[in-house]
Amino acid sequence: MTGAGIAASVGLAPYASDPALSRGRRYPEPEAPTRTAYQRDRDRVIHCTAFRRLVYKTQVFLNHEGDLFRTRLTHSLEVAQLGRSIARSLRLNEDLVEAIALAHDLGHTPFGHAGQDALNDCLRHRSPQDGHDADDGWGFEHNLQSLRVVDELEERYPAFDGLNLCFETREGVLKHCSRANALRLEQQEPSGVAWRFLYGGSPSLEAQLCNLADEIAYNAHDIDDGVRSGLLSMEQLAEVELFEHYRRRALANYPGLAGRRLLFEAIRLMLSDQVYDVIDTTRERLAASRVENVDAVRASPRLVAFSDGMRERTQVLKTFLLRNLYRHPQVMETTQRARRVVSDLFDRYMDKPSEMPEAHGQRQHQARAVADYIAGMTDRFAIREHERLVGAVLFP
Ligand code: MG
Repeated sequence: MTGAGIAASVGLAPYASDPALSRGRRYPEPEAPTRTAYQRDRDRVIHCTAFRRLVYKTQVFLNHEGDLFRTRLTHSLEVAQLGRSIARSLRLNEDLVEAIALAHDLGHTPFGHAGQDALNDCLRHRSPQDGHDADDGWGFEHNLQSLRVVDELEERYPAFDGLNLCFETREGVLKHCSRANALRLEQQEPSGVAWRFLYGGSPSLEAQLCNLADEIAYNAHDIDDGVRSGLLSMEQLAEVELFEHYRRRALANYPGLAGRRLLFEAIRLMLSDQVYDVIDTTRERLAASRVENVDAVRASPRLVAFSDGMRERTQVLKTFLLRNLYRHPQVMETTQRARRVVSDLFDRYMDKPSEMPEAHGQRQHQARAVADYIAGMTDRFAIREHERLVGAVLFP
């Protein structure tokens, strides 16, 4: 039992996560006198090293490509803002939403998805014949890595590895997990955070909400960053019904509005409507499902959702961004170089572990130690290390 009687839980809906009913921490700790368990989790995330690294990690555009693009840090703050705003309306636990949102991308490699894919390939394609030790079987998944950061990799506390967060926060951090890795996790922690990936069911409403807030945030900010970068134009965006609808509405409200203010106003209207859509749809689903507590939530299909119409319109936007931004030749070219940085680094550290700080070089499973070391790097540190070890300048 945690945080009983703390005022923050007053006013929560019966299906919200109540810190007083938390499934607890892996290593039991006394309660904090002034904070609920979830507030404490949020604070631990903010103070951890991996959180500070997010400021120098790529969301879509590399950190050094411009000062105004989103980074993993500003993305995480936007997810927390959207999530909390929706949570308050639905009387869900804002503190838990904030803790999950701020932690959800802690496991991301440098260079975004390019780095993750490269690292996964490195781990999957090594074999003892290459002179490397065999893959430990986990591969690289960024959601799982986020969980490993908070469970194992942070070294701050005298009594345990990781941040020792509550079950509910860890459950939200593990947003996706392959079946193979879920089986491994379930062996380590029976009926734990991976259970739902094997036997079905849903995470808490707060975790479901962070999932959707993540999507709302990146769809909106990738339009903004895409236009800012010059890779997307407002004319191109006219083909996306969702965006065009709000652009026209902004113009109807402010005839003559143009340029960046028009873009911002259209995105602002789109964000607001998506938030209201989630709140309305989720309220309806909650009423229809008659869930009365968190256990019933976990046994139900997903309840936090867009309406069907908004889901379809959002899907069109996502496809547009995939085709025109994430697969833009300029982004793909950067992606190729980023993949090379990661796989070159992997090879170098495998051949010569002494190039890593001592603590990493001494770990039992070398390939995993190398992957963890690289995953923790910021974009610019990875680029500098690559120049130091390989001599090639891939990002002048
Ligand atoms: Mg995210």
